Amino acid sequence: MTKDESVLIIGGGIAGFQAALDLAAAGVQVHMVEKSPSIGGRMAQLDKTFPTNDCSICILAPKMIETYGHKNINVRTYAEVQKVSGSIGDFQVEILQKARFVYEDKCTGCGACMEKCPKKVSSEYEMGLADRRAIYFPFAQAVPRVATIDKDACIHFKTGKCLLCVKECQAGAIDHKMEDEVITVNVGAIIVATGFDVYLPYEMEEYGYGRYENVVTAMEFERIINAAGPTHGHMQRLSEDKGRPKRLAFIQCVGARDVRHDRPYCSAVCCMHSTKEAMLAREHHSDTDSWIFYTDMRAFGKGFWEYIERGERDYGINYIRGKPGEIIEDPETKDLILYYTDRETREVRALEVEMVILATALIPRADAPEVAQILGIEMDEYNFFKAPNVMMSTDTTREGVYMAGYCQKPMDIPDAVAQGSATAARAMEAMAQNPKGGTSQKEVTA
Ligand SMILES: Cc1cc2nc3c(=O)[nH]c(=O)nc-3n(C[C@H](O)[C@H](O)[C@H](O)COP(=O)(O)OP(=O)(O)OC[C@H]3O[C@@H](n4cnc5c(N)ncnc54)[C@H](O)[C@@H]3O)c2cc1C
Repeated sequence: MTKDESVLIIGGGIAGFQAALDLAAAGVQVHMVEKSPSIGGRMAQLDKTFPTNDCSICILAPKMIETYGHKNINVRTYAEVQKVSGSIGDFQVEILQKARFVYEDKCTGCGACMEKCPKKVSSEYEMGLADRRAIYFPFAQAVPRVATIDKDACIHFKTGKCLLCVKECQAGAIDHKMEDEVITVNVGAIIVATGFDVYLPYEMEEYGYGRYENVVTAMEFERIINAAGPTHGHMQRLSEDKGRPKRLAFIQCVGARDVRHDRPYCSAVCCMHSTKEAMLAREHHSDTDSWIFYTDMRAFGKGFWEYIERGERDYGINYIRGKPGEIIEDPETKDLILYYTDRETREVRALEVEMVILATALIPRADAPEVAQILGIEMDEYNFFKAPNVMMSTDTTREGVYMAGYCQKPMDIPDAVAQGSATAARAMEAMAQNPKGGTSQKEVTA
């Protein structure tokens, strides 16, 4: 390879970081394009990670900083790939850099603008359980720590007035006249690592999500138990009483492994993350009791089965094979009664709890079809990106375009990291065999 060969990585989650850091360590120039205002991906939302129960952001933050600060990695946040032409060894990529209305090189990350901003909207990072301002950092450890103005929410873009943030910014970093830019880069290979979305089961009326305040998704629960989350780490119900739930029910496979929703596949991480969340709940308060309703236990990684056994033995988690058919809310107490058939004993039973956590299906990103079209790659029947054969799980159907992490198929963090490294190796191999392209330093701004 020549020194100026470079690789594009789409998606700044854990899989993208691993690919970027491996390539950068080998001297390859990397362009990372992240759609949201900060890198980090889903792992930045998690409280702890199975099977070690290590603090998620504590593992992730050093990787975010290393990626952003690496001399061989050029990170573009709030950006999207809009066109790709060329072929392996010599791709031309058009990147849309969306205006964040704040100059990255001027913003000091002090946050004073946000304190003055009068407009509140629901925070995507907090899964709608807290608000953010129209000018915001997506989360406290965001990288880069640069404010972004949400144009759809900002009062100035609606009325021409306000500008309180501008008055407050000592660094003169805010400019509402900033415009989108299109940047062209030339790369030898492309890695797509765009991850997953969380299915919100409003249509599954039997569980009352959206109707019963104390029925939440697992990702919402991750935020509820997180010290930096909307309840500052206090385990709280969402109903008006804000009481501490002492009896928790976790339901697996909600909208997954379910032909009614055309999603017969397994999301691969839920048996483990529900066990983790039940363990963490008990660690918060030793008088918390948990019931996990499962289809069958899919704990297939190294040390995973032992983790489930530890949950049962040391944390008193009750595992019940069976799926509740219905949840009814007590309108007075806001407690929840689950009706289920225990598949081991074949008995129909009821269980009353104070909070229900739904392990909902994890699904391809909503824009996966658009990304597939831009990249000229195929998807499978569920919209995960498709590998040409099972032996080459990091290859896509287009030569020179590789994939890592959850965008390929359901997988946990260790597997996403392994795939990140695998794609870095595949990209280097591709460029070594097709050495003509990749002028990484050449950036053209339209
Ligand atoms: C509730 C819950 C708990 C979990 N707990 C654990 C756990 O304890 N341990 C464990 O191993 N796993 C856990 N997981 C799974 C873990 O979150 C995933 O394995 C991991 O996040 C996958 O990483 P990724 O990089 O593939 O995707 P993501 O983390 O989704 O990152 C993808 C990145 O790509 C960006 N992106 C998306 N589309 C575009 C685009 N078009 N252009 C540019 N950028 C784009 C996104 O903004 C994001 O930053 C959990 C999952 C859930 C839902």
